[in-house]
Amino acid sequence: MRHRVPLIMLLGPLLVAGCTTDPTDPEATPSAPTATPSPTAPAVDYTVWQAGRSTPVADKVYPARGTDALDVLHYDLELDWAPSTKTLTGTATLRIRPVENAPSLVLDFMPYQVDGVTVDGSPAPGAVAREKLTVTAPVVADQPVTLVVKYHGSPKTTPMPSQRKDVEALGLTVTKEGGLWTMQEPFGALTWYPANDQPSDEALYDIRVTVPAGWSAIASGTPAGQSGTTFTYRSTDPVATYLTTLAVGKYQKLTATGPRGIPLTYWYRKGVDDKLVPYLKKSPQYLTWLEKKFGPYPFPSGGVVVVDSASGMETQQMITMGGKIENTRARRDRWGSDVVHEYAHQWFGNSVTPTTWTDLWLNEGWASYAQDLYTQETLKLSDASLDRYLSAADAALRKKLGPPGKPDPKRFAEGNVYLCSEAMLHEIHKQLGDKAFFALARAWVQEQRNTQQDRASFIAFVNKQTGRDFTKLIDTWLDSKTTPKKITVA
Ligand SMILES: [Zn+2]
Repeated sequence: MRHRVPLIMLLGPLLVAGCTTDPTDPEATPSAPTATPSPTAPAVDYTVWQAGRSTPVADKVYPARGTDALDVLHYDLELDWAPSTKTLTGTATLRIRPVENAPSLVLDFMPYQVDGVTVDGSPAPGAVAREKLTVTAPVVADQPVTLVVKYHGSPKTTPMPSQRKDVEALGLTVTKEGGLWTMQEPFGALTWYPANDQPSDEALYDIRVTVPAGWSAIASGTPAGQSGTTFTYRSTDPVATYLTTLAVGKYQKLTATGPRGIPLTYWYRKGVDDKLVPYLKKSPQYLTWLEKKFGPYPFPSGGVVVVDSASGMETQQMITMGGKIENTRARRDRWGSDVVHEYAHQWFGNSVTPTTWTDLWLNEGWASYAQDLYTQETLKLSDASLDRYLSAADAALRKKLGPPGKPDPKRFAEGNVYLCSEAMLHEIHKQLGDKAFFALARAWVQEQRNTQQDRASFIAFVNKQTGRDFTKLIDTWLDSKTTPKKITVA
């Protein structure tokens, strides 16, 4: 998710003051704003979705969301959006590996009208209550089943567990023109399809969306064709539910080519987002810079869809950028910087995903650091100005919000998770020097593509890669209530 106060926000004071005064307190800066499958079930070769296999764990921050009892391998979503009646009609086909024997399948889902449920082709009772769909059908550990849920209704959002002023309710949001967009970190996929809505259960996706003539449907994944007014997207790399997106509107489409021929698609609203188009067109430049630092972009395609939101989200292979910003050059430049942040997440967060929300710092620390290094390099800012920005921000944010390693469930994605962990990476960078630091960063993402990681695995990786023991430094930076004193790693 977009970061409230990236380095570029402080450029005014830094440049005017010639880097001689203390940087603005980042928080004071006005934020820009048990049974067997039915004998009638057709034989299904579940191995084709093997890449969607995960080891789900109960989330420690949001234990009510998602489950560790099942592992969704693949979601096939066939959706139809009717703007005039604001009705979403869907057929969701989930290929599920039960982790344990159980009397039912339980998924996260909003109260749509459920029009029919089958398990392995046999009708099964399905009931939705308190954002959970319970399908009564006994399942056996490691014997995959096919769940089909047909549903329709008007999308409704779910509250965001945050006190940030720049975030909105979570999930599929209907615009006044009858379009759709979604921001759904840390959860909210449940507002448009039945999901195991937590980060440890990644899966493959096929999404087909039918809209009326003149409208376009955009989703996460690789564009896989358009037939009439049905738009198809396919994810062959595993995706966490919070990284899926869906947008519907009267969009203009632009295509471009990124480094190494990566196909890019930009979707914007003519007459609304025109001034943001130059920043969309900088995508190849952003990606080229990111590849130089972190190695090859990890997916087969990319792009950005601009939506009627004030937020920004790194949704996989198709970034969702809110276009609701002040109409100033400074604000647009900051928007472009946020696009770099969301692209950086394709490496940090999307390809290598934190197992639970406890380690959101693993996403935001890296993405924020990449964003600020880009700003520093392209605008030729001094190392001293980056140092001053990070140390002032770290001190202020630890004081206000505590350390980044144990996030408060009621305050999702606060500044400490971004900047205090960024300051830690900056400290590791200074101790290792450029060559060893970027070798570490590249190895972290390139050697662990499509995996899930946590603090312990990060520390182990850093120590192995560098041959030095960073355990104390990392633990201290993640847990200390004040900025850590210098810890020199020999
Ligand atoms: Zn982010």
